[in-house]
Amino acid sequence: MHFSAEHVLKECRDKEISISSFFRDLEAEQASMTGEALDEQMLQILSVMQESAERALEKPTYSLSGMTGGDASKAWEHRRKNTLLGEFVMGSVARALSTSEVNASMGKIVAAPTAGASGILPAALFGAKERLQLTMEELLPGLYTAGAIGKIVAQEATISGADGGCQAECGTAAAMSAAGLTELFGGTPEACFHAASFALIHVLGLVSDPIAGFVEFPCSLRNASGLVNAFVSADMACAGIESLVPFDEVVEAMHKVGKAMPEALRETALGGIAATPTAKKCEKKFL
Ligand code: SF4
Repeated sequence: MHFSAEHVLKECRDKEISISSFFRDLEAEQASMTGEALDEQMLQILSVMQESAERALEKPTYSLSGMTGGDASKAWEHRRKNTLLGEFVMGSVARALSTSEVNASMGKIVAAPTAGASGILPAALFGAKERLQLTMEELLPGLYTAGAIGKIVAQEATISGADGGCQAECGTAAAMSAAGLTELFGGTPEACFHAASFALIHVLGLVSDPIAGFVEFPCSLRNASGLVNAFVSADMACAGIESLVPFDEVVEAMHKVGKAMPEALRETALGGIAATPTAKKCEKKFL
């Protein structure tokens, strides 16, 4: 069965429910669980996300290779200074970097949708928690809606950097986050899909080029920018701005762009930033 935005929107309109309600019911039914039991599992997922988004904020955390790390604590420290983004967004950027660093240090993260892009959704959700003063339970609709977006991309296209470049990983994570945020901020199901479309369109064509094949650089940077992408996309959708192209077509376009990408730009560490002279020196030093 195609799991499309069109299908989800029809269900939401017919039943007059949110994307999160629709997806919670669907997942509970498919897993033969009650909604309450599923909520419990999702709360555990949120706890892991919170832990990873906070772990590297005060304590500099370095990757196993030693190539990257310590940036989350720099951003966290910097957030109260004279920043362009302001304390809230800079603090959220620090949380995105924190999860990326925890991942690179082989710590526990939630792949949402992948380990490489795992910093974006936790930073988005815990940013919303801070901004809206939500409880963990009140964050669940954001997580469910993000899950619905991730499922559409995974089923109808790809969430793998090796298949579709970083647009498929960090782009999908930003789209999931943008939709989740839009719902948490009171947006309609239609607005959630506009937000998801914006986030994916913003990074269409983004290549996957991790230095030495380690999920470290430029991955952590793309988690930080992916988080800001999600914020911009959600705010635009909540303002009533609409995507001319519907989400299903954006996903299809992303899939086609990924297929057209040369192998060197799909996580092979043979192109892009990974092929620069400095990256090659790093590769020799850290491999
Ligand atoms: S650059 Fe490649 S490995 Fe790194 S996050 Fe993006 S898709 Fe994943």
